[in-house]
Amino acid sequence: MGLFAKDINTMDDLFLHVVQDIYYAEQQIKKALPDMIAKATNRELTAALKNHLEETQKQVSRLEQVFDLLGQKAKAASCPAIDGIIKEANEIAGEVSDKQVLDAALIAAAQAVEHYEITRYGTLIAWAEELDKEAVAKLLTTTLNEEKAADRKLSSIAEKKVNLKAAR
Ligand code: ZN
Ligand code: FE
Ligand code: FE
Ligand code: FE
Repeated sequence: MGLFAKDINTMDDLFLHVVQDIYYAEQQIKKALPDMIAKATNRELTAALKNHLEETQKQVSRLEQVFDLLGQKAKAASCPAIDGIIKEANEIAGEVSDKQVLDAALIAAAQAVEHYEITRYGTLIAWAEELDKEAVAKLLTTTLNEEKAADRKLSSIAEKKVNLKAAR
């Protein structure tokens, strides 16, 4: 996110820029998830990732509704942060040979993604409320709640199943 780009002057500009950033991030996540699903072994993990892929598709359309409400064309602004998180996930997944340990690595990578999203949506909701964009804040809150639930689900799969098997 080029926060210091000269085309950002007002809080509305900044808000729009971060919406474009998370729009890009969601699209990259949508592309990365099928590969993670293919690599996962634990059934609960596969199911959770599949479910989140479906949610991610809805989140992309929800952001398109946000652009509509802002009177703007949907546009993605490249986000080096999510590119880095996904790159690191692919690197580590390529290096782990044990299937159970790979599941633990995939969960760690997926949770890094969720946490990036949670910070972005949290900020956008606070700004939307400050800027009196109530309908936008509502859409973003629906997504934030899905991200938080996905994160909690991954923690529970890790703590109840995957870490135990991986550590054996
Ligand atoms: Zn940027
Ligand atoms: Fe998302
Ligand atoms: Fe970013
Ligand atoms: Fe997510």
